[in-house]
Amino acid sequence: MEEVENMTVKIHITTLGCPKNTVDSGHLARRFEAEGFIPVEESGEADILLVNTCGFVRDAKEESVDEILRLAEIKKEQGSGGEGAKSLLVFGCLAKRYGAELTQEIPEIDGLWGVSEEERIVEYCKGLKMREGAEAGAKRAGKAAAPATASAAEPGLMISYAYLKIAEGCDKKCTFCVIPSIRGRFRSIPRDEVLREAGDLVRSGVRELILVAQDITSYGKETAGSTLAALLREMASLPGDFFIRLLYLYPTEITDELLEVIATEDKILKYIDIPLQHSEDRILRLMGRRGTRKEYLRLLRNIRRRIPSIALRTTFIVGFPSETEEDFHGLVDFIEEVRFDRLGVFKFSKEEGTPSAALKGQVPERVKERRYDEIMGRQALISLERNRELVGKRFPAVVDEADAEVVIARLYSHAPEIDGAVIIERDGMPAAGPLAGPLKAGDVVTVEVVDAYDYDVKGKIIGPAS
Ligand code: SF4
Repeated sequence: MEEVENMTVKIHITTLGCPKNTVDSGHLARRFEAEGFIPVEESGEADILLVNTCGFVRDAKEESVDEILRLAEIKKEQGSGGEGAKSLLVFGCLAKRYGAELTQEIPEIDGLWGVSEEERIVEYCKGLKMREGAEAGAKRAGKAAAPATASAAEPGLMISYAYLKIAEGCDKKCTFCVIPSIRGRFRSIPRDEVLREAGDLVRSGVRELILVAQDITSYGKETAGSTLAALLREMASLPGDFFIRLLYLYPTEITDELLEVIATEDKILKYIDIPLQHSEDRILRLMGRRGTRKEYLRLLRNIRRRIPSIALRTTFIVGFPSETEEDFHGLVDFIEEVRFDRLGVFKFSKEEGTPSAALKGQVPERVKERRYDEIMGRQALISLERNRELVGKRFPAVVDEADAEVVIARLYSHAPEIDGAVIIERDGMPAAGPLAGPLKAGDVVTVEVVDAYDYDVKGKIIGPAS
């Protein structure tokens, strides 16, 4: 057993949004005090920075993002000085709605939860506190410290998923995007570091590692080191019962080798998110994107041929400057032809300092709205049809939340925070046997899909994971 010092850990909570958030934060602060954390008024004095966010209206979202960025700066400054804030944790409505985007765009975020997850936040922070204690103890004894997550594993904490960053920045030059100017050049996180963190997360009870970066397919390229395919092989060979999910692959950099790894490694979920942004060659050129409509169709066909069960997710931008009705209908035809499992749409927004903000032919907001609604309406039908194809089939599902009446779980085709879920009513669940007891986040069960909706499906549990 590692020697653990009784550490003083200072915590600062920032609350944004409605009175409910104020109440939640007050409740959380009292829990932290009861656990021996020290609340501090000044963010600059804290070891842990917590932000309770609001995501309802645009101004509130902006305020939350600004605050997270401000605290990320504090964390960076203090981190480089060796003392001060070590963790930036975000929760609440904005985190629930835009979790993946936030972790993708603000890599300083160390942990992210939705709403009503106070218990998990407290458990996580207790894990950090124990790590601090173990490190301090180990320093005095001249030993290496146990990882945070090994400490967190002691109370038996089980977490259904965690984001794992494998790179920062971006070298692409998409003309609508501010990321490269904010985040800088693409830098892969060294292979050893990524694998160590993956191992720590799995040992701490995380069931699903979600690999993120602005573009994960560029992993290792700038150093001519490991490739994404090689990294995935190594990660999949780590011991433990866990899954790996891949978000944000750049279409023209998906190699046959990478598809082979996804197809053959059981731990890698058959799900990929390839933001295509558009389908029409002229718009793609103006966007500074590589590839053509023809190449994208060939790529998607190839992926489905090699991995027939693959769930494909993408995102598109509508209303890019000069997008005509003809371009838009080309995009709609493309979507109807491919029938993506999941699809997100953004309305083009002029970001200061980007080349596309200065392009001629800016599209009026009402036209963007109409194009957005049309694609979302069509995709709802496609999604419903695809969900109906699942009825009667059985899949492993990871439990995210469970209470007395309902269990919310996810199939391989559901990324957390972005896609739908499988909803399981407690009625009809076994009254005896291994599934009779309370289920908790991180449990894996076998589910049969019994009904389909636009984005969610309804399921029943038929047994433990096989
Ligand atoms: S949109 Fe383009 S420039 Fe922006 S992060 Fe993605 S690949 Fe990089």
